Amino acid sequence: MRSNMLTAIIKSTTRCNYRCKYCFVNADTSGEDMTLGTLRTTIHKLLSTANDSAVRFIWHGGEPLLCGLEFFDSVVALQREFNTQNKECTNAIQTNGSLLDDETIDFLKKNHFRIGLSLDGPRELNDVIRLRGRDAGTYDTTIERVRLLREHGLTTGAIATITRHNCHYPAELFRLFKENGLHMKLGQLVNSGRAKSNTEELGLLPEEYGEFAVQLFDLWLNDDEGITRIDPFESIVQSMLKPGARPTECIHAGRCHEMFICVSPNGDLYPCGLFHGHGDFCYGNICDLSLDRIEETPAYRILQFRQDVINDSCGNCPFFQYCHGGCPFSAFSNTGDILSRDYYCEGFRMVFRHVAERYKAALDPSDALDKFRIVCGGGGGGGGEYGRYCVDYSVDWREYPVYSEFIA
Ligand code: SF4
Ligand code: SF4
Repeated sequence: MRSNMLTAIIKSTTRCNYRCKYCFVNADTSGEDMTLGTLRTTIHKLLSTANDSAVRFIWHGGEPLLCGLEFFDSVVALQREFNTQNKECTNAIQTNGSLLDDETIDFLKKNHFRIGLSLDGPRELNDVIRLRGRDAGTYDTTIERVRLLREHGLTTGAIATITRHNCHYPAELFRLFKENGLHMKLGQLVNSGRAKSNTEELGLLPEEYGEFAVQLFDLWLNDDEGITRIDPFESIVQSMLKPGARPTECIHAGRCHEMFICVSPNGDLYPCGLFHGHGDFCYGNICDLSLDRIEETPAYRILQFRQDVINDSCGNCPFFQYCHGGCPFSAFSNTGDILSRDYYCEGFRMVFRHVAERYKAALDPSDALDKFRIVCGGGGGGGGEYGRYCVDYSVDWREYPVYSEFIA
C-alpha cells in the first residue's frame, strides 16, 4: 500500500435489517458479525503497521449499527490504545439510518464520526428499491433521521444509487437533496450480490447514466445558492480546472488499491468493500497476513496489472487524467473482465465533455462562472465538510488547461 492516507472499509457485519434490491453484499438478517478479537487485530494492524500517516476508517456492512454501541465504544477505545504513532485517525459510518436515535447520534457526534445515509430519490423512487422487509419502503425513516441529525446540529450526505428507476428524474433528486440540506454522492450500480438477480429491473446503460449525470450537473451548476455538494462533480471540476488538483473520488483517482482496503467480518482482506466475497480478490486474512506483504499477493498484482493495461487502453482518451479508467470493480462485475475499462466509460465521457462545454460557455461572463470559482476555491467558510465554499476571485480562469485542451 503506497499512499499517505489509507481508507479502511470495515465490514463490521454482513447482517442488515433492510432488503435493498441492489445490495452487493446480499445482506439479510442472518449474516456474520466481526468479533472483538478480529476488531482488535484489525485496528492494531491498521494503526501500527500500515505505512500511511493517516487512516480513515469507514464502518460499513450490512448495517453496521446492528453491532450495537458497545462495539463502537470498543472501536474508539482500541483506536486510542493502538494509535501510538499519532496518525491522523478519522471515522465515518455508512448506515441505512434505521437505528439512529438520540443516544446513537450523541455517541457518534461526541466521537466525531461522519455519518452517511442512502436515499435514491423521493418516496415513489426510493421505496421501490430500498425496502425494509418484503414491501415496506424506507423513505419516511430516512427523511426522519435526516431531520433528527439536523436537530443535533449535524449535516450529512447520502448515496443516491442510479438505476433504471430513478435515472429519468435528476430534477426530483436534486430538489429533494437540496430541500433536506443533504450532500449527494452518486452511486454507480454494480452487477453483484442481489443486484445480479435484479439486473433487468435495475440495470442501465452507460449512456443513460451519462444523460442523468449531465442533467444533474446543470441543475447543480445553475443553482445559485452553492450549498448542495455532489460527488463526483466537485472532484471532476477541480481536477479539470484547478492546476495540480487530482481526482479525489476513488472511481477516478486511479490505483485505488493503493489507497483502499476492506476488512470483512471474519478478517478477510479485499481491495475494496465491493470485492467482499469474491475469493479471487482476497489478499488473505488480517490475522495471518502482514499489511506490508499485501503487494506480493496475486490479487494485488492483478489490480496493478489492470492499471498498466488501462493506461494503454484509455491512454488516448482526452479525459484520462481526470478518469484513470474508472472503477475496477465496475469493470469486473459489469463486463466480466477486470482488465477492461469501467462499464460506465461512455457515461463518464459525456460528463467530462459536458463540464468542458459548460466551462467554455461560462467564460462569457455569467453566474455559472462563479460556481466554477466556488468549487475550485476550496472548502472552508466555517461550515465544515458539507458547508459553504469560499469564492476565489484571484484566479484567471481563462488560463486553465481545460480551455486550451478541449475547447479552443
Ligand atoms: S474498486 Fe471501485 S468503488 Fe472500490 S475503491 Fe476502487 S474505484 Fe472505488
Ligand atoms: S472516460 Fe473511458 S476511455 Fe476515458 S479514461 Fe475514463 S474509462 Fe478510459
